[in-house]
Amino acid sequence: MDHSFSISALDALPKIELHCHLELAVRQSTLQEFAIARGYDVKASQDFAEAFLIQAPMGELPSVLHKFLNTRDLLDSTEWIERVAFEVCEDMYIKSNVRILELRYAPSFLLDKHGHISADELQEAIQRGVEKAEATYPMAVGLICILQRTKSVEANANWVDFAINHRNGFLALDLADNEVDFDPEPFIPLFQRAKSHGLGITVHAGEPRFTGISKNIRTAIQAMGADRIGHGLQAIEDPAVVDLLRTSGTPLELCLTSNWLTGACDSFAEHPFRRLYEAGVKTTINTDDPGIMCTDLRLEFLRLAEHQGMDLDAFEHCINWAYEASFIPEEKKRAVWGAVR
Ligand SMILES: [Zn+2]
Repeated sequence: MDHSFSISALDALPKIELHCHLELAVRQSTLQEFAIARGYDVKASQDFAEAFLIQAPMGELPSVLHKFLNTRDLLDSTEWIERVAFEVCEDMYIKSNVRILELRYAPSFLLDKHGHISADELQEAIQRGVEKAEATYPMAVGLICILQRTKSVEANANWVDFAINHRNGFLALDLADNEVDFDPEPFIPLFQRAKSHGLGITVHAGEPRFTGISKNIRTAIQAMGADRIGHGLQAIEDPAVVDLLRTSGTPLELCLTSNWLTGACDSFAEHPFRRLYEAGVKTTINTDDPGIMCTDLRLEFLRLAEHQGMDLDAFEHCINWAYEASFIPEEKKRAVWGAVR
């Protein structure tokens, strides 16, 4: 690989992950173990990869959705979910020196398949896993509750209540899923309500390559109270949206590998990360779905160095923006960060 710094200098850099979906970040060896335990014939790594992993840009959406669902369907016990939460944190620390970590999940997505688990049991299992990781490693971890835009406003209103009622467990609210066919506007009141209760707001917006999609970034910032934008790489299609991001200081949670795998950009080199960075947008570096998308945060940094010529100095800017933008309370962040910075 071609970059301007030593790998050990990159590894020594304490890192921050803001955009990671817990249910799609399962450690691969654990996922394979769960799959075998539930009767899948995936002892051969090729069979496992075919059923669960996304290794090349997506062809048609259904086959990819099928892989998401295969993974989700395996998470059918609170013991396993607790283990997954712990291992996701552990992998972040060990592989990538992550010290501040925000994990997000959609209770409606997980519970759709697992009616025998209550929302409270699910949340408590995840919190147990996270707390064990915080007790084991010098890291601060927080959770974000995701609403699925494919579900009704009424159904999502219940999840907003859930997030507000678990204010100690959730830092923020997010909106995810199919952005092309489901506009964000119907959900504006839900986000305003969450914000008025002190939850942070981040919104998946401007992710897929679809002409005009950057309007969702504008809606998120101007109407939904977004403190951050999930992805938002398509801002690059409209200079006025780039300007809005810059003047409002709204950070983007960019996920290079995921954006390539979902077809949001053609290659690592053509991703607009560096152009947005140079335009004065607060760009942060994240993994999205590290388990099933076969990446980790360290690799995201390496790919940005190799394909976009980003250097350690630029990475420090990105990490500082991520620190400022993290919804984890300042005191808790400082407790793990002060010793390493
Ligand atoms: Zn995402």
